[in-house]
Amino acid sequence: MKTLKYFLFSFFLIAFTAFAQEDRPKERELGHTNNNKFKQLYDEFSTPNMFRSASGAPGPAYYQQKADYRMDIELDDENARIYGFETITYTNNSPDVLEYLWVQLDQNKRAKDSKSPLIESDGVSTMNRAAGFVDKFMGKTFDGGFKIQEVKDTNGNPLPHVINMTMMRVDIPKPLASGSTFSFSIKWWYNINDHVNQGGRSGYEYFPKDDNRAYVIAQFFPRMAVYSDVEGWQNSQFWGRDEFALPFGDYKVNITVPADHILDGTGKLINRKDVFSKEMMKRYEKAKKSYDEPVLIVTQEEAEFAEKSKSTGKKTWKLEAENVRDFGFATSRKFIWDMMAVKIGGIDVMAVSLYPKEGNPLWEDWSTKAVASTLRSYSRMTFDYPYHKAISVHARSQGMEYPMICWNYGRPDENGYYSDRTKFGMMSVIIHEVGHNFFPMIINSDERQWTWMDEGLNTFVQYIAEQDFGEWYPDALSPGQDKYPSRRGPASKIIPYMSGDQDFIAPIMTKGLNTYQFGSNAYSKPATGLNMLRETIMGRELFDYAFKTYSQRWMFKHPTPEDFFRTMEDASAVDLDWFWRGWFYTTDYTDIGIKAVNKYFVSSEPNKQIKEMLSRRGMKLSDLPPYVYLVEEGSEDFTEDLRDKDVMESNPTLKEYLMDNFTPEERANMKTPKYFYKVTFDKPGGLVMPIIAEYEFADGTKERITYPAQIWRFNDKEVSKAIASTSELVKITVDPDLETADIDTSNNSWPKEIKQSKFDQFKNQLKN
Ligand SMILES: [Zn+2]
Repeated sequence: MKTLKYFLFSFFLIAFTAFAQEDRPKERELGHTNNNKFKQLYDEFSTPNMFRSASGAPGPAYYQQKADYRMDIELDDENARIYGFETITYTNNSPDVLEYLWVQLDQNKRAKDSKSPLIESDGVSTMNRAAGFVDKFMGKTFDGGFKIQEVKDTNGNPLPHVINMTMMRVDIPKPLASGSTFSFSIKWWYNINDHVNQGGRSGYEYFPKDDNRAYVIAQFFPRMAVYSDVEGWQNSQFWGRDEFALPFGDYKVNITVPADHILDGTGKLINRKDVFSKEMMKRYEKAKKSYDEPVLIVTQEEAEFAEKSKSTGKKTWKLEAENVRDFGFATSRKFIWDMMAVKIGGIDVMAVSLYPKEGNPLWEDWSTKAVASTLRSYSRMTFDYPYHKAISVHARSQGMEYPMICWNYGRPDENGYYSDRTKFGMMSVIIHEVGHNFFPMIINSDERQWTWMDEGLNTFVQYIAEQDFGEWYPDALSPGQDKYPSRRGPASKIIPYMSGDQDFIAPIMTKGLNTYQFGSNAYSKPATGLNMLRETIMGRELFDYAFKTYSQRWMFKHPTPEDFFRTMEDASAVDLDWFWRGWFYTTDYTDIGIKAVNKYFVSSEPNKQIKEMLSRRGMKLSDLPPYVYLVEEGSEDFTEDLRDKDVMESNPTLKEYLMDNFTPEERANMKTPKYFYKVTFDKPGGLVMPIIAEYEFADGTKERITYPAQIWRFNDKEVSKAIASTSELVKITVDPDLETADIDTSNNSWPKEIKQSKFDQFKNQLKN
């Protein structure tokens, strides 16, 4: 008998389960295709190897090449030309034998025969810059390409070489074996471009009022390309947009400029006594001990005096840098120069600014402080800044970075007036470009291939550094502001981009040259993604540790995207493949809403369907083990007397079960809900994201629950959650703090918030 009853019961249970399932969305009908969204990234990632470990760290056989430079440079200020002679010593640390070397000739982008303009679709514009108009329609007059005068080995023998646009292959006399070194020299010159009128990341600005130029000089010498385990030779052409891939090395650079110029650049100035006046020396000593305010090394008065004449003499500034991936410098007789010290990890670093008088009063007030503040913030997020100085140079319309030095825009008008836009633009660009010392100057990713790896990571830390700056220098804010007005970072700021026309959006994992909306794609979206990981998905503690681990693992090395993705998971135990896949590999957007809310009350009896089934099988309710029944409000089984009852009084079976199985103390600590809800969330957006739901109850209490993104793993369209409460649910809000870049918030609340349409508003206005 017992056996038969058991059999019947099991049979019943199967039937019952079938009934219960009817209540759930049919997963196959609802687009059960989302397995891909949680599929691990094995197909997209290359297989870990001895060079790069599966953990995301450099592998046991990791190597990188070294390129050391000795250079003698001379600036011809009168003709805006630069001459150079360089000796490159290249060390092959790879296990491969190299048959040739590739050298980058970036200035050839400005050569008369440059193909860069030919890959742009442009047509005819009704408004043209004079310089651009002449170039385009009147025959190009300016030739800014490299004039390579000689390429020789150390014995003075010419080396065969082939120039393909911005890349030069140097054919070496015999293949370069693993572990060996080859030295060769290149003699060159080129015409320096006017960066204000002709564009470019370096060049000069001409000031007609005093007939002077301010030079910001970079990509100015033939530079070794990167050879690595992932690309072989990275000799992808420089078309003008994707930046640079460069090996580390040591530099000894002598730069000869007019004697009245003030110059600073990458590296330590090793002949300070030759180029500084006694007065400058005294001020410099003072600056090294000034931690709060910058000290002027060259005053505005002195710079204005220097502008008035031109020295015929020359001075050579000698700079030496170790373990840098590039070299840049700025020089002009117009420069005002100030410095202050900032303690980083117990060591003094100099924060430095160079600016013509045209930058004041903004620059003397804020540039050097922004540099110092940036070094502190970035060091906290990554590692202690390892170089001895960081320089911010004012150059019109520029925002460009090199090791220890960068160029930044932000200029008041002729009366010294500036808007908030100019002020915060200037501060933000300084924070950003100084931040580039970390990404990619030290964490040396391949900018030519992956713009987001330096711009995105840098823009992410920039946001944190801006907020620090606003906190540490509240005087920099404008009246009424309580924090720094960051343009990028918070999730809500990426919505206009992500909800835009899909025909003009590319995944982040696209080479920069080929992406639409470059700034949003390579700067804002990755930065926002990292901010979301930090604030919403991983939490600050796990994120910051993992981010620091990545930074320290790849400090002075060449990371790839996978090294970043892998390290973030390896150091946090958070599986983020779904996030990388959605945010970095697709153009999907977030849109999560509330589809329906069903309300239930506890009943002592099952619904009609179950009752009928029991009677068909000749069974009574008492044949079943203890069940608690829930009846949906508004259904045919619902009666008003079920409302508002305590769960214990409305279900004797449950009461009995509790009495039999729990002590009075345990029972006293239990919740006794009256209201039961099924909340159904739907997801019109393609991205999977955590559901952040805020439940608000009639008694005024609120509860916020974050359902991890994995809730979407079996159903990409909709999911449901049960909520039980002692007080009636009155409101639900999805993503109340706008943390997930949800592009449509009209479906984010229940009951639906009725927003007055523009037309209704207009009608009401007419009535009033
Ligand atoms: Zn940048």
